[in-house]
Amino acid sequence: MNRPCLILFGPPGSGKGTQAKFLRDTLQIAHISTGDMLRERVSAGDELGREVAGIMKSGGLVPDETVYHLVVDRIERPDCANGFLLDGFPRTVKQARLLSELLDVQGISPLVIFLKVDYNVIIARLSGRRLCPTCGAVYNLSSSAPEEAKVCDLDGTRLVSRDDDRPGVVLDRLKAYERETAPVLDFFRSVNYPIFEVDGTSRPPVEIAREIRILIEKKYGSVPVSVSKA
Ligand code: AMP
Repeated sequence: MNRPCLILFGPPGSGKGTQAKFLRDTLQIAHISTGDMLRERVSAGDELGREVAGIMKSGGLVPDETVYHLVVDRIERPDCANGFLLDGFPRTVKQARLLSELLDVQGISPLVIFLKVDYNVIIARLSGRRLCPTCGAVYNLSSSAPEEAKVCDLDGTRLVSRDDDRPGVVLDRLKAYERETAPVLDFFRSVNYPIFEVDGTSRPPVEIAREIRILIEKKYGSVPVSVSKA
């Protein structure tokens, strides 16, 4: 089997993170989320974290080189040997170009999954998103609310919202997506990456994950499966 590289592509709130978690748990491949990596650095308060905190809070994009170097270092870790899944990267044509050069050198042929979701659905989803700061569980007040309001079902921690899920910031993130990220699809087409559009608006996440797994198996052959949840 080729070393799989899945690029989960789509606007903020399209379900990339949710799908990435399903796929990471069912296939033995690493999950690389640039948003999570950057948030860890902001929480740690190191130099890079301090540099990017303001940009992230306002819904803008972190400089290409900064994000690219995080990804390069991450891909070299041993858990990426069986393949990896990119969630939130690349987000600009420049990042996509750098990535394609890296994949060419390593002989890796990627598969792009484009999660298409209606913008009104995204705005509703993100404004209802709540996270557990202790275990990372994600809830949604309309579709997957916690049993007890505002508290994590798993460990009882008080749930929080992401700073950049505030309504004004969500609009800025969607504009940044339209301006900087949507053109990446044309770049993918220009280098002949296979792109599969998946409708992520109304179907349950587990059903979408099943569809994605079928696409992965078609491209890479049977993939190593751990616990079959999706
Ligand atoms: P996410 O969790 O993927 O929605 O990312 C949260 C925020 O992190 C984004 O709004 C950006 O500020 C920053 N970010 C994440 N990935 C990238 C990327 N590939 N390029 C630039 N900024 C990014």
